[in-house]
Amino acid sequence: MAAHVLVAGGGIAGLAVAYELNRQGIPFTLVEERRRPGGVVLSEEIDGFVLDAGPDALLIQKPEAVRLCQELGLGDRLVPTQPPRNAFIQRGGRLHQLPAASVLGIPTEWGPFIRTGLFSWPGKVRMGLELVIPARTDDADESIGGFMRRRFGAEATDYLAEPLLAGIHAGDVERLSIRALFPRFVETERMHGSLLRAFRRPPAATSRPAGDTAPAAGQRGGDGAFRSLPGGLSEMVRALVAVLPAASLRFGQRITALSRDAHRYHIVTEAGDTFSGDRVVLATPAFATARYVRAFDTRLADLCGTIPYASAATVSLAFRRSSIAHPLNGSGFVVPKKEATGILAGSWLSSKWPHRAPAGHALLRTFLGGARDPDALDLSDEEMVARSLRALTPLIGITAPPLFTRVYRWENANAQHEVGHLGRVRAIEEAVAAHPGLFVTGSAYRGVGIPDCVADGRAVGRQLGQSILATPAT
Ligand SMILES: Cc1cc2nc3c(=O)[nH]c(=O)nc-3n(C[C@H](O)[C@H](O)[C@H](O)COP(=O)(O)OP(=O)(O)OC[C@H]3O[C@@H](n4cnc5c(N)ncnc54)[C@H](O)[C@@H]3O)c2cc1C
Repeated sequence: MAAHVLVAGGGIAGLAVAYELNRQGIPFTLVEERRRPGGVVLSEEIDGFVLDAGPDALLIQKPEAVRLCQELGLGDRLVPTQPPRNAFIQRGGRLHQLPAASVLGIPTEWGPFIRTGLFSWPGKVRMGLELVIPARTDDADESIGGFMRRRFGAEATDYLAEPLLAGIHAGDVERLSIRALFPRFVETERMHGSLLRAFRRPPAATSRPAGDTAPAAGQRGGDGAFRSLPGGLSEMVRALVAVLPAASLRFGQRITALSRDAHRYHIVTEAGDTFSGDRVVLATPAFATARYVRAFDTRLADLCGTIPYASAATVSLAFRRSSIAHPLNGSGFVVPKKEATGILAGSWLSSKWPHRAPAGHALLRTFLGGARDPDALDLSDEEMVARSLRALTPLIGITAPPLFTRVYRWENANAQHEVGHLGRVRAIEEAVAAHPGLFVTGSAYRGVGIPDCVADGRAVGRQLGQSILATPAT
């Protein structure tokens, strides 16, 4: 019997598995609950505006997503962020530009850091003391907040780490793992002691190891750290699906159970269909994966069930350019929890990317919810829009109502890699290895960003190919 692979979940991770299987000529069936592919990757065109409902940016330092776009023939369509590549942080009701010379907010030059109004003088002095704070010597994991407070003090934690490093994960700065999400910081501390000193060295000495997921916010020059596509990242999803055999893709099919007999796995859907294969990749969120594997491995189910998720909403707001006083000279801003404006961040999408709004117009979006404010997801669409406008107006001078708005809700869509995550993933990998033919992938495990999910999905696809080659056909 020829090998057949089942792929559960048609987000970017599941699609990357399918792409890699297809390249190797391995038959598969991908089963996805939604009627469309891509999971949280969704962009829509409305009245000449391109709305990014979920992710908008591909980090190029992790090249796997950009490489996939190139393989799919989208290489010429990749666009960099538009200059000026400024990022702002709100403090005291004002927007402060993140000093341009920084690595994820950690200053790499003294001048801009000394001049910024983002930090108080005592805060700056405490950050400067990082130069002499001894390196931690043990291997224990730590929260992003714990790490940053220990090295740079409370102010840097509240106004940098919380909104920027935890904010991009919609997460809680006191719970997210520094080792899982920013291994570069841990490694730099281990090797050089001070991050300030190390980041002031020539770039070659501080190259980024795989694993960091954050944008190098505030970095300028060159061609920027990110790429997108003129039609939003759904372009990548459409191009991916176009090269896959249509008969292998089952959308609008909610998986309700996974069972296993001596040689095969069986996916059962709500509609009562059963799909069978001798190998299965679970590219569904970890809480869904936990439900399926409980039928045959309660420990693996419990382990998957320990990966938390946060919910967030994005609100897109389309304006006439003349209705906004601010120059919108950057990609947008993040809002520290202490500012309590009810939003996590605001993006100026039509300044950040080309082609997001027709000439003479502007496209903005806000982020609400996250681990910081889970109740925000209970708001109606109208309340989310009103809250966004209340938060934006005093900062950027909005003088007329938006032309239209769209609210996108992402319930339990942001995997949270909390302290101890790397150990939890090792335990999951060991438990998975006890079941021949079973694989897991997706943002819950070895990386959150799209480049991580593409890399992991493709790696799983290659592993499957090797395991199939090594098994004689029956
Ligand atoms: C608002 C937002 C903005 C982001 N911005 C960025 C960014 O700019 N850059 C970046 O790199 N990353 C970003 N991320 C992170 C990144 O987009 C995600 O981590 C990644 O896309 C997750 O891919 P995935 O395939 O693991 O999961 P998902 O996209 O969640 O896919 C899982 C799939 O499983 C399906 N599924 C679930 N249950 C079932 C079931 N019972 N039966 C069948 N199917 C099921 C779901 O419908 C879904 O399609 C962002 C995330 C969010 C939410």
